[in-house]
Amino acid sequence: MSKKDELPIAIIGAGIGGLTLALALLKQNKSVRLFEKVSRFAQIGAGLSLAPNCAKVLQRLGVLKNIAPLADTPESGFILLGDSGEQIHNTPFSKIESIFGYPYYQIHRARCHQLLVDEVLAHDPDCIEMNAELLAIDQSGEQICLDFIHQRKQRVACVIGCDGVRSAVRKLYFDETAPLFTGYVAWRALVPMNDIDATYQQPVSFVNLMHQRQLVHYPINLGQYLNVAAFAEQDWQIESWTEPADIEEMHSVYSDFRPSVHELIDAIDPEHCFKWALYDRDPIDHWSKEKVVLMGDAAHPMLPYLGQGAAMAIEDAWYLSQAIAIYDDYETAFSAFQRARKTRTDWVLQESRAAGQRFATEKPSAETYADDKAMSTKVMFGFDPIAECEQAYSSAA
Ligand SMILES: Cc1cc2nc3c(=O)[nH]c(=O)nc-3n(C[C@H](O)[C@H](O)[C@H](O)COP(=O)(O)OP(=O)(O)OC[C@H]3O[C@@H](n4cnc5c(N)ncnc54)[C@H](O)[C@@H]3O)c2cc1C
Repeated sequence: MSKKDELPIAIIGAGIGGLTLALALLKQNKSVRLFEKVSRFAQIGAGLSLAPNCAKVLQRLGVLKNIAPLADTPESGFILLGDSGEQIHNTPFSKIESIFGYPYYQIHRARCHQLLVDEVLAHDPDCIEMNAELLAIDQSGEQICLDFIHQRKQRVACVIGCDGVRSAVRKLYFDETAPLFTGYVAWRALVPMNDIDATYQQPVSFVNLMHQRQLVHYPINLGQYLNVAAFAEQDWQIESWTEPADIEEMHSVYSDFRPSVHELIDAIDPEHCFKWALYDRDPIDHWSKEKVVLMGDAAHPMLPYLGQGAAMAIEDAWYLSQAIAIYDDYETAFSAFQRARKTRTDWVLQESRAAGQRFATEKPSAETYADDKAMSTKVMFGFDPIAECEQAYSSAA
């Protein structure tokens, strides 16, 4: 059967995870269709941290050479008390490259996403179907038929749900429960570097911390913008990338932070500052069933406090593409993938929650970060998804 006649592998959701998976499968010359619900990608103004563990996959797929020149690489990650500015912790990011082989990249999220879109389309210009919101999966015997809101039905070989924390595939096949509001909200903004003091240009990632609130900032776009991400406990439950924020409210939430933090908040353009509620889900035992599987946030959404959610989706994409290459049928490949990934993603998920609890501490201090396993051990950044994946599937090879 020619590739033209093959039923395609269906990937639902063209986020960072779905795109990375599509690229990995296209490189194996597989027939792939990526179905995305939005009609055009939003230019989300936000930073994205790409740690060495996922950089290895991007390197293997040949996209790191395009991402790296557009990324900033911090030398340090300082945690400061919000009121006094006293430093309570430092992650020496400058040493990361020599220890783990890759630096800690921080990049404009929309640029990284677009680079992946370009790379996928360079391999197959027809791969991505926009405005294709999955509604139903009809599986009878060998046949799988997908139904979309604005598209005609599609027959496919298997289904991979990369459709995020509110995954339709998860709801249809694995878990009918809804994500739970965490009690925390986030604000995100990009501040043009020209609008703020030159001291912000230093290649450092800062976390300003007080009880149940943190305000993070680091340069992106090669120092053109300061990425600001602020988190606080609040009962406000709208989940959207485009809900406008109220700058006065930010001043009030961070009222006990030192004046320089308020100067930074003042520099934020309210038109380009967005607020959204953070949702979480408990891990589920099974992400794969017959010819349907979940990966990325659809399988194991991560709270953002370690900056590892996209990294886990990228690691997943590598493991899943390799399972499809190695195993004879999708069902076996999908269950091998889940077996290989569950321990790792459960651990990162728990560590992301623990990082959230650290910033909720009433009186944060150096001790609060003394047991920060995620940042202080090799387990997070030193994880080699390429070698570990080979090892995990070695008995099948
Ligand atoms: C404030 C914040 C900061 C973060 N910072 C970082 C960071 O610095 N580093 C990091 O590694 N992670 C970070 N994360 C986490 C990261 O954004 C996610 O873990 C990551 O985007 C997950 O990728 P994904 O591809 O699994 O899902 P998503 O990126 O959520 O992509 C899902 C895609 O599926 C589409 N879709 C949804 N439903 C359907 C449907 N029914 N049919 C078709 N398409 C559908 C969506 O439109 C979307 O394009 C952060 C998260 C937050 C909230």
